[in-house]
Amino acid sequence: MPTPAGEPPGCEHHGRMDEDWDGVDFDEVDVIGASAGSGTQARDAGDEAVDGLDKITAQMVGGEHRPEQQEMCRAVAEALATGTHLVVQAGTGTGKSLAYLVPAVLSGKKVVVATATKALQDQLRDKDLPLVESGLGLPVPLDYAVLKGRSNYICRQRVAEVGSGGIQAELGEQGAGRADEPDWEAPEARDPSVASAARPAEPSAVSPPEGVVEQVRELVAWSQTSRTGDRADLTFEPADRAWNMLSVGPRECPGAFNCPSGGSCFAEAARDRAAVADIVVVNTHLYGAHLASGGVVLPEHEVVVFDEAHELEEVMTSSLGVELTPGRFRTLVTAARPLVETRDSDLLDSLAAAGDLLGTLLSDRAGQRVLRDGAENADDEDLSDLLARTADVSRRVIDALRRGGAQRSFTAGDADDPDKASRKTRTLQAAAHLAEDLHRLVGRTDGEVAWVDGTRRNARLRLSPIDVGPALSGMLWGGITSVLTSATIPPRVVERVGLDDFPTEELNVGSPFDYRAHSLLYVARHLPDRRAEGAEDAVFEELGLLIEAAGGRTLALFTSRRATEAAAEALAPELPYALLLQGDQPKGRLLEEFASDETSCLFATLGFWQGVDIPGRALSLVTIDRLPFPRPDDPLLQARRDRAGARAFSLVDLPRAATLLAQGAGRLIRTTEDKGVVAVLDPRLATASYRGVLLERLPPMRRSVDRSEVESFLRRALEGSDAPPQ
Ligand code: SF4
Repeated sequence: MPTPAGEPPGCEHHGRMDEDWDGVDFDEVDVIGASAGSGTQARDAGDEAVDGLDKITAQMVGGEHRPEQQEMCRAVAEALATGTHLVVQAGTGTGKSLAYLVPAVLSGKKVVVATATKALQDQLRDKDLPLVESGLGLPVPLDYAVLKGRSNYICRQRVAEVGSGGIQAELGEQGAGRADEPDWEAPEARDPSVASAARPAEPSAVSPPEGVVEQVRELVAWSQTSRTGDRADLTFEPADRAWNMLSVGPRECPGAFNCPSGGSCFAEAARDRAAVADIVVVNTHLYGAHLASGGVVLPEHEVVVFDEAHELEEVMTSSLGVELTPGRFRTLVTAARPLVETRDSDLLDSLAAAGDLLGTLLSDRAGQRVLRDGAENADDEDLSDLLARTADVSRRVIDALRRGGAQRSFTAGDADDPDKASRKTRTLQAAAHLAEDLHRLVGRTDGEVAWVDGTRRNARLRLSPIDVGPALSGMLWGGITSVLTSATIPPRVVERVGLDDFPTEELNVGSPFDYRAHSLLYVARHLPDRRAEGAEDAVFEELGLLIEAAGGRTLALFTSRRATEAAAEALAPELPYALLLQGDQPKGRLLEEFASDETSCLFATLGFWQGVDIPGRALSLVTIDRLPFPRPDDPLLQARRDRAGARAFSLVDLPRAATLLAQGAGRLIRTTEDKGVVAVLDPRLATASYRGVLLERLPPMRRSVDRSEVESFLRRALEGSDAPPQ
C-alpha cells in the first residue's frame, strides 16, 4: 500500500490514541526561548509600554486588560530596547497589533510594519494607529503612513502621454499593458473572486463606467482631483486593462529624477510621506521587493514588524526570486517597436519569437520543476538554450534602444518631446530588467530551483531560492531589529528564515479565549484509512451527521476542490440547510451569506482556511476532511525535500501541515462568546506518531474521539437557538 501524500514511510505505525492523545498541554510553560533582555533599560521600556497599553485599553469602550496582550507588549518593548529579535505567537483575541504598535511608537524608532493582507493594513491605518495616537496622549502627533507598490498609484506621466496621444491610439499601442508586472500586493488583491467581492461592499462604491475607453477617461479626470492617486481610493473598480494603461510597475518606472512628471508623481509623494513618518505600514511583498532591490524601495528604518508572519517564508521566496512570462516579451516588443531604428526591428522579431517559444515550452510543464542539473530532458535543453540565446538578444535590444535615443533619464533624451523621451527611458528600464532576470536564470545556482507556476494557458517560469534563510541573514537580520508575530507561528520558523544565528527570543502568549470551556476538538478516529475502499463515503456520512448535530452552522474545509465538490454533491440532497459552495459566488458574498443565514453550511477549500472571520452561532462547527499536507509533487517543496534528505517530512511537510491545520481550526472561536467544535475527519490526528507536532499548534481545546460527546457539546452550546440540534 503506498504511503499517502506528505506522510513519511513508516508513518502507518500509528501510536495508540489513548496513551497520549492529551499529551501536549497548552497550560505548560509557554516561553520557549531565552529570557528577555534583562537590563534596566529594557525593563523600563517594558513598564512604559504596558502603562501605555493600559491607558489605551482604559479609554476603549468595553476595553479590558488582557494579560496575554500585556505580556506581548512588554516582550516587544524589551526586544526593541535590546535589539533582540522576537518571534511571538499570539492567539486569536490577544489584540496583537496594539501589543506591538504601542512599544513601537514609544521606542521613538523608525518602524516598518509589514502585513500579509490588505484587511490588516486597513485595520492598522483606520483603527489601531489612530487609537494609539489618541490613547497615548503624545506631545506631538503620531506620524504614520501606508506605502504601497508603485503600480497601485496612477502614473502622472502615463496620464500626460494618454492625454497627448489619445486613448484609442494608446490602447492600440499598449496592448495588454503591463499585466505581467509584479504589483507587490497582498495575495487577495490578485484573487479576482476576493477583489470583486470586496469592492461592492465598500459604501462609496458605485457602478464602474462601461468600456475601457470610458474608464480611462474617468481615471484621467480622477487623477486631476485625487490627493493620493491610490487605486484603493477610487469609487469604482476599473478593468485591469484600463488601470494598467495609466500605471507603471517597478520594472518600468525610471524614478522621479528621470521622469518629466516626477515632481508631481503620486507614488513618489507616498514615498516622501513614508520617509518622514514614524510608522510605515506596507505589504510583506513590498518589503520583499525592498530587499530584492538592495534596499531602495522603503525608507531607512531600525525596526520591522512582520505581522501574519506565517506567510513570511513564502512571500520572501517569491520576492527574492525571478518570474518570467511570455507576456513580458510581448509588452516590451510592443513598446520598443516604435522606438528603434528600422534596421533593428529583426531583433524585436527575435525577442517576440522567443517569448512565444517560451510560452510553448512552459505550457505543458505547469507545476513541474525544470532546468534540473543532471536531469536528461530534451525539453529542459530547449528551455536552457532559449534562455541563453534570449539573454543575448535582450542585451542587443538594449543597445538598439540606445541607438534609437533611449537614455536612462528623459532629460538626456529628446528635449523637444519629453513624453517620448520618457517612454524611451521606461522601455529601456523594462528591457534592462528583462535582461537581468534572464541573466539570473542562465546563471542559476544550486541554492535555487526553477519551476513552472500557473496553468497551461498562463504558465510562468520562476526561479526561487530553496532556502530564504541565507538571503535574509545577509540582507536583513544583521542590521534591523525584527518582531515576527502571528496567531500561528510555523514550527522551526527561526531556522527557516535564517534567524538562528542572531539573538532571538521566542514567546507564545496564548489566547485570552477559554478554549477548554468553549470548544471541543473531535477526531473521527473510527474512520477508515483514506486509501481504503469506501473511505470517502464514510467521511461524507460522518460529515452529514456532524452537520445535523450542529443544525447546519458549518464551515466544511477540504484539502482539494475535487473533495469539496464531491462532498457537496453527496450531502446537498440530504441536508435541510442551505449549502454554499466555493466558486458559486465571489468569496466575500459567500461569507456574507454564510454569516447572515445562521443555519447555512459553507463547503470550501484552501482559500478559506484563513482570513474567514465569522463570529457567533453561524459558525459553530468547523470540519476538516484530512490533514493538509502539501502535494508531494509541488516543485518548490520537492527541492526543499531533496535538500532536507531524510528529515524532509519533519522539516518541510509537517510544519506546513501544522500551520495550515491551526489556521483552519482557528476559524472557530473568534470572540469570547463563541462556542463550537472543530472536527477532523482524518484519524491520523489521533493515531500517527507525528500527531504531537500538529496538536501542539492547535488552540488548547478539549479533545474527544466520541461523536456523542460532540452532539451533547453542541446541544449545550446552542441552547436557546431557533433550531436546537436534537
Ligand atoms: S516617476 Fe514618473 S513614470 Fe514613475 S510612477 Fe511617477 S510619474 Fe509615473
